[in-house]
Amino acid sequence: MKNKTLKYLRVIIRDMEYAAIAETYSLVESTTKRLEMTDYLVELFKKTPPDVIDKVIYLTQGKLYPDYMGIELGIAEKLAIKAVSRTTGIRESEINELLKKHGDLGLVAEETIKKKRQMTLFSFEEEKKLTVEKVYENFDKMARVEGGGSQEKKIQYLAELLNLASPLEAKYIIRTVEGKLRLGIADMTILDALSIAFGGSKELRSFVERAYNIHPDLGSIAKRLAKEGIEGVKNIKIELGIPIRAMLAERLPSLEEILAKMGGKAAFEYKYDGMRIQAHIGGEKIWLYSRRLENLTEQFPDVVEAIKGAFKGDEGIFDGEAVPVDINTGELLPFQVVSHRRGRKYGIEKAMEEYPVVLFLFDILYLNGEDLTSKPYPERRKILESVIHETDRVKLATQIVSSNIEEIKKFFNKAIEDGCEGLVAKNVGEESIYRAGAREFLWIKYKREYKVEIGDTVDLVAVGAFAGKGKRRGTYGALLMAAYNPEKDRFETVCKLGSGFTDEQLAYLPKKFEALLIDKKHPRVWSELDADYWFVPKTVLEVIGAEITLSPTHTCARDVIEKGAGLAIRFPRFTGRWRDDKSPEEATTTKELVEMYKNQIKKIG
Ligand code: ATP
Repeated sequence: MKNKTLKYLRVIIRDMEYAAIAETYSLVESTTKRLEMTDYLVELFKKTPPDVIDKVIYLTQGKLYPDYMGIELGIAEKLAIKAVSRTTGIRESEINELLKKHGDLGLVAEETIKKKRQMTLFSFEEEKKLTVEKVYENFDKMARVEGGGSQEKKIQYLAELLNLASPLEAKYIIRTVEGKLRLGIADMTILDALSIAFGGSKELRSFVERAYNIHPDLGSIAKRLAKEGIEGVKNIKIELGIPIRAMLAERLPSLEEILAKMGGKAAFEYKYDGMRIQAHIGGEKIWLYSRRLENLTEQFPDVVEAIKGAFKGDEGIFDGEAVPVDINTGELLPFQVVSHRRGRKYGIEKAMEEYPVVLFLFDILYLNGEDLTSKPYPERRKILESVIHETDRVKLATQIVSSNIEEIKKFFNKAIEDGCEGLVAKNVGEESIYRAGAREFLWIKYKREYKVEIGDTVDLVAVGAFAGKGKRRGTYGALLMAAYNPEKDRFETVCKLGSGFTDEQLAYLPKKFEALLIDKKHPRVWSELDADYWFVPKTVLEVIGAEITLSPTHTCARDVIEKGAGLAIRFPRFTGRWRDDKSPEEATTTKELVEMYKNQIKKIG
């Protein structure tokens, strides 16, 4: 008897049932309201034992670790089908038929497992309980298994879980391993829920956010909160090997306005058009991260070597832009050349020769154990200059500190001539700290395109597509594009995009979006147009347009400028640049488009 009680206690104290998660997912899916989602998460976090809260968070995000660790959960659909077939005893061909009907293997698993349970007599509910630990453990094994027989092992790990799962649990297990959980929960919603679950004060929210900006690992933040409370979060420090969320720039339409906003004096730097890289150096160990905090170390061994050679200290974290160069002339090349190297696992040597890059450093965030982010920018720049020994491959961003508009304009023209996009102005006052993860006026960008067309390219998210007609029959005629509204955490449509694609790109579009297809509009998308296909909002494209107009059809910033009207981009054209370094939440915001609309009016008027 005593033993039985002990065992029972162990289950509630240490283990957590996966059912609690599955039920929460089900509730989250039933709403599109962010506040309701947050409430459901708060309830879940409150009942989660501190030891597993990190796992609960990662699973809710559809992953096993923070992205920067590069360990991805994923299984091919055909393997998942085999696992469902093994668990239910239903032939694969039949499962495939059901899949065609439902379009979601999660639903198929739910339905078939329900039937199986009805046919078997034992009381499944009482006998077996699937724990979060078990689910996580098997997912983790699936993510790590390699080599011969690994496919079979993946099927086994998955089938083992499905055997223990209720129909509802099975649905979410399948969706998770297929990377199709699609709960639409943004990181900020999780931060909100954590702050409420573990204290509820506004003060806590700001500490949690600060921790997230310098240590973007929601699992470990949650664990510290749950175990040590607010002190645990306050103690989170910058750590080598853990990327810091990038500081971003605001924009203004003229150098005069920028200078005024900066208080009459600022540092002006070349705005290099390459790929943002955050480099961490800890002795021999080096990590490179992208703007989206993916680990790029393996893809840029030449940058690793270059930074090692240029740094005169032991430990440091640097912010910079990697730009491809023409090895013969030393000219800066367009960014597209670097994008060839992204995602390449093979042929890196060859790519390095073809497209060598120069790393232009513009900031230092950490040096030999000291966090420098709260020092004003001029001090950080001085430190940067003192610890970097410039080489052919590592240089400091070209900079002037000026209050003279004529001098700044000349410098801008020089930047363009030297192959840069424009300038980034940086505040040089006492307040000019490094604001990780923030887009504020401490940095203001000014690009050449402001003089042409609508002023700037925008980065929009593809949320759906329209079937092609005439020559485009069989592929998409246009994509439905949206801007991001962070207040409402949703994507609001702003144009149909059909030009700027090459024939090859056009033909490939349906394949490219295949994995993101869903059968109805995504809950985070606000559209009044009825697209022929709907996507999970994920893919970001760079778009240039002729003008921003008021629109009765599009929902972007609806009612903000004029009641009943949204904003639309006229004559949008794909620039050829897939912004896969940006998450959908980093796309151009509805607020930015409102600003661009107003500035455009100002210029015309
Ligand atoms: P964009 O598409 O204009 O690069 P973004 O949203 O990627 O915009 P922003 O923060 O708005 O990024 O603009 C600043 C970007 O410019 C940085 O992310 C960085 O990649 C790049 N950059 C180039 N040179 C500099 C520099 N000297 N200082 C800061 N950022 C620079």
